[in-house]
Amino acid sequence: MATNRTFTMIKPDAVENNYIGGILKMINEAGFRIVAMKYTKLSAEAAGKFYEIHKERPFYGELVNYMSSGPIVAAILEKENAVADFRTLIGATDPTKADEGTIRKIYAKSIAANAVHGSDSDENAQLEGDFYFSKLERF
Ligand code: UDP
Ligand code: MG
Repeated sequence: MATNRTFTMIKPDAVENNYIGGILKMINEAGFRIVAMKYTKLSAEAAGKFYEIHKERPFYGELVNYMSSGPIVAAILEKENAVADFRTLIGATDPTKADEGTIRKIYAKSIAANAVHGSDSDENAQLEGDFYFSKLERF
């Protein structure tokens, strides 16, 4: 069942470059409502758990190091067709392949440090949101 919700993180490279405001502006202007939001930092252990589905991929170790290297912004977003529309808004994983006007095209540095995370399915959106937020932290 579609939940009309997705989960995002503004990743350490984008936070460090002071892109939080610009990225949130694009998210709001695209019609997403913020359900929950947190400024926090992942331990290496928590990053490893969050990205467990990528454990067998060659970039897993680097990804875990990078995602625990500095603070991030985590958020649950709401909009009709949230998962697919947010993937469109952020663009391709590799910013050199991302469409013009997408968040990754504008703000990402590389395929690894690519500014934002976006859930790839309703099921993962639910799991990822639950990883960070209790029921009481959702509005
Ligand atoms: N990643 C990487 N190298 C790659 C592919 C992915 O470092 O060759 C990182 C990148 O930060 C990406 C994350 O791993 O966002 C998760 O990969 P996925 O294929 O799920 O891409 P996404 O769903 O984020 O577009
Ligand atoms: Mg993914």
